[in-house]
Amino acid sequence: MPVTRIHRNITLRRLALDLYQFIRCQRPMVQWLGRPFDISRRYVEIDLTYRCNLHCFNCNRSCTQAPSRLDLSVARVAGFIHDSVAQGRSWERIRLLGGEPTLHPDFDVIVDMLRDYQARHNPRLRLVVCTNGNGARVRRTLANLPDGIVVKNTWKGTRQRLFRPFNMAPLDRPLYRWAKYSCGCRILEDCGLGLTPLGYYPCAIAGGIDRVFGFGRGRPELPARLADFQEDLYLFCRLCGHFGFAWPTKNSRMSPLWARAYTRYRKRCATSNRSVNR
Ligand code: SF4
Ligand code: SF4
Repeated sequence: MPVTRIHRNITLRRLALDLYQFIRCQRPMVQWLGRPFDISRRYVEIDLTYRCNLHCFNCNRSCTQAPSRLDLSVARVAGFIHDSVAQGRSWERIRLLGGEPTLHPDFDVIVDMLRDYQARHNPRLRLVVCTNGNGARVRRTLANLPDGIVVKNTWKGTRQRLFRPFNMAPLDRPLYRWAKYSCGCRILEDCGLGLTPLGYYPCAIAGGIDRVFGFGRGRPELPARLADFQEDLYLFCRLCGHFGFAWPTKNSRMSPLWARAYTRYRKRCATSNRSVNR
């Protein structure tokens, strides 16, 4: 049986850290003390899919706001393993997320591939599945996971939970006019590099933002130099509700930049559906 841990998104400690990061990312502070966060070289988060069986209002992968069945391909996972071995990377932790990762049609295959990588190349690696734990299918898949995998379960249901308002873009808020967006946030250190169906990003959340805004910044191969992501951080963090500090909410909150981006996203989807049906 896998080891299961309960996870809570909002805690007093995390709110205090958010306040610290808000202060620390102001331009004068960065000039004085230097950059506060670096992308971790120890951790990776892999967004397996944007499918989800829940509809949280402030989902930071836009699974509710812009539903999609986009999955990470098995070939990309194979590429990640190949590049990790070739570059001599020794990840300490790989987290599988989404969306709801267990809904990926090849979830078991991907878990087996990563366990094989762990056994052959990286025995100290910790494999973690982050799940909402909701529904019979999800629970069945979790129960069948092999030993040694850690399950981080948020036990979400249909009742809305407290979330940080992901769709409040700092760029829409005067409070952030002195912010240095290319600093990112503590998620870079706590969660590490992101691999998503659209490629590699400084964090997995940035991949979810790119899916909606359509900048096309995903890198096809595992980047050897993480410092090259500065420009991407500037682009994504000014749109991301995780930058700085915001009071958690159970209600849907959305600033104008996001409202316009979702409208454009829906138009793009409608256009591509029409051309497929022609
Ligand atoms: S369970 Fe997670 S992925 Fe699904 S809608 Fe809620 S926050 Fe998003
Ligand atoms: S995109 Fe969001 S989660 Fe990622 S580093 Fe920037 S502020 Fe943090």
